[in-house]
Amino acid sequence: MEELRSRLVRLALENAVEHGGKALLDPVVRRIAGELPELRPRLREILPLVREILSEVNGLTAEEQLRRLEELGGAAKAERKRREGLPELPEVEKYGRVVTRFAPNPNGPLHLGHVRAALLSHEYARLYGGKFILRFEDTNPANAREEMYGRIKEDLEWLGIRWDEEFFQSDRLELYYRVAEFLLEGGKAYVCLCRAEEFRERRDKGLPCPCRELPPSQQLERWRGMREGKYGEEEAVLRVKTDLRHPNPAVRDWPAFRIVEAPHPRVGRRYRVWPLYNFSVSVDDHEMGITHVIRGKEHEVNEARQRTLFALLGWEYPTVVQYGRLTLAGAKLSKTEIVRGVERGELHGYDDVRLGTISALRRRGFLPESIRRVILEVGLTRVDSSLSWESLEAQNRKLVDDLALRYFFVPSGVWMRVRGAPELGEVELPLHPSHPERGKRRLPLRYEEGSLLVLVPSSDLQELREGEVFRLKDLMNVALLSKSPPEAEFRGLELLPGVAKVQWVSGDPVEVRVLKPDGSVEEGLGEPALRGVRAGEILQFERYGFVRVEGTGREIWVVFAHR
Ligand code: GLU
Repeated sequence: MEELRSRLVRLALENAVEHGGKALLDPVVRRIAGELPELRPRLREILPLVREILSEVNGLTAEEQLRRLEELGGAAKAERKRREGLPELPEVEKYGRVVTRFAPNPNGPLHLGHVRAALLSHEYARLYGGKFILRFEDTNPANAREEMYGRIKEDLEWLGIRWDEEFFQSDRLELYYRVAEFLLEGGKAYVCLCRAEEFRERRDKGLPCPCRELPPSQQLERWRGMREGKYGEEEAVLRVKTDLRHPNPAVRDWPAFRIVEAPHPRVGRRYRVWPLYNFSVSVDDHEMGITHVIRGKEHEVNEARQRTLFALLGWEYPTVVQYGRLTLAGAKLSKTEIVRGVERGELHGYDDVRLGTISALRRRGFLPESIRRVILEVGLTRVDSSLSWESLEAQNRKLVDDLALRYFFVPSGVWMRVRGAPELGEVELPLHPSHPERGKRRLPLRYEEGSLLVLVPSSDLQELREGEVFRLKDLMNVALLSKSPPEAEFRGLELLPGVAKVQWVSGDPVEVRVLKPDGSVEEGLGEPALRGVRAGEILQFERYGFVRVEGTGREIWVVFAHR
């Protein structure tokens, strides 16, 4: 019994480790049937045990899963997983620990570009047995969106990213205010009432503005004025004092707080003075003991600003690991464009299949593990890289090919009469050609006046010559007598080498609608066994492509993934 249990735990762990930390019942059961054939007759009986093991395994952190897997002898697999080509994190010795964070602004949905920061930060924290923090950087009430907090968490969870702590910057304003007041009292910050252009003109020449020189008592007075509503939006900002001759004018006396009247989705109108990104990120990175910040190199100027604040406060700046920009070719929409598109109804939602958002990729049947692999493969390089849909698809194909059950589907078909076909009644075909243990499906055959009736894709029919012999896949060979009306003649059951293979359905077909990546819908008929599929399943429509089931009922709705 113990022996059985540990073998099952190991299979569950392997599945979890391969699928972003979460083992799923169906694949694990299939694996048990495949690798431990002696258990096949007892599958039903051991199901409760498998369920119990899954919930145990899924409750572990990714690091614990790897450790347990190693203990159970899955060392090679765990080791491969550990390396995956990521370089060592610098300066780990210096801190003696690793604390990383992912700090999304909840102003739009996550797409592939953002996930790089999340995956790498998470991966490194796990590799070093450290801590990974999720922090919502929501200090701009004008663009933080209520629904995004939940969506972002859902996307991260789906990707197998688990965080040890969760923070909302909108809960932390009192802390930021305290730091601001400390700076004002020490003459290290000031409240600037200058018009933006005037300030900029002086700043670009390296000159101070009149507000900068006022004593702390007056600064604190102005600060209270900001908080109490004496100034309107853009009439006052708190600036951090920096070197006025800093080579980059954008760093000189950068703005740290401003007034925003818009209500915040989480804290309403409780505050009107809000920190800007560089201020809150600095206070939090310090406060939360972040040791390594893994971010895109587009944050270079921000980093220079943040460093001036760390220096003013005598704090030590975390170690920064930078990576280049990552784009998904042909999916150029930015967060703001996506949000606008959804609001205007030009996009059907954040998971519109035309987008490169995580929810769209999920909907299209990409596995979290495929996304993980392509991103970790790009790794930490500082050069900009562009990911093609083809490489993402190729990665996904490698993984789904083994999982996806096979079905026949005929898009825009025509009914063809086959004369002289034997009365077979039905055929039984395996659900997966390399996994007989997954069972079979039945395709009933429809006969009329002694002829077999099959639906075949009209495009395939057009490509055939009259008189040509071809094969109705996994069924029989026929010779095409006429294209219109479509008629053929039986020519034997044995596989003939070199003849074209054509997809078909016959008796009792089910209506299928396929949502394509360009947003169009293709309709067709599928084999009756499709009535048994469930939403969320990834299937292969043979000779057509991989699809993910979205809805079932009188008709089946699927989303096209790739060929
Ligand atoms: N909130 C920032 C972002 O979304 C965090 C970047 C950083 O400081 O690393 O890009």
